[in-house]
Amino acid sequence: MNKKEMMVAAIENGTVLDHIPSERLFDVVRMLHLENMPNAITIGFNLKSAVMGSKSIIKIADKYFTDEELDQLSVVAPNITMCVIKDYEIIEKRPVVMPDELVGLVRCPNSKCITNNEPMQTRFRLVTPGAHALRCSYCNKDVELGDVCIVENV
Ligand SMILES: [Zn+2]
Repeated sequence: MNKKEMMVAAIENGTVLDHIPSERLFDVVRMLHLENMPNAITIGFNLKSAVMGSKSIIKIADKYFTDEELDQLSVVAPNITMCVIKDYEIIEKRPVVMPDELVGLVRCPNSKCITNNEPMQTRFRLVTPGAHALRCSYCNKDVELGDVCIVENV
């Protein structure tokens, strides 16, 4: 195993999330509700990355997430790689994939939008497939992926 992989200790079983932009690490922690988890969690913050400059890694022992839980992370960190680890071996590795629709996750930047004035879930879709902006399904406001804010109570 190469030295860079060892910057954060290996886990026997669980999930590894790699290539998280460091400025989005705490969004990822919040979206996966890691702060409420009893599992052993190792976080590498501001690690050097040849590709990204700075990246973060999260390793969660004895925890496997659903595709929905992982793919929602693509909104704040489209280049995350997730690995499923069993007996110290990577048995699955894939990038996160943007879901068709994001429900109750992204805050609408339009203060007049009904989602900011009624107790309801927001709904966003990609403007076009492969685009880098989301569109509110209620008021049609566009949000660049880099500017997305996550709702308070995800
Ligand atoms: Zn809206």
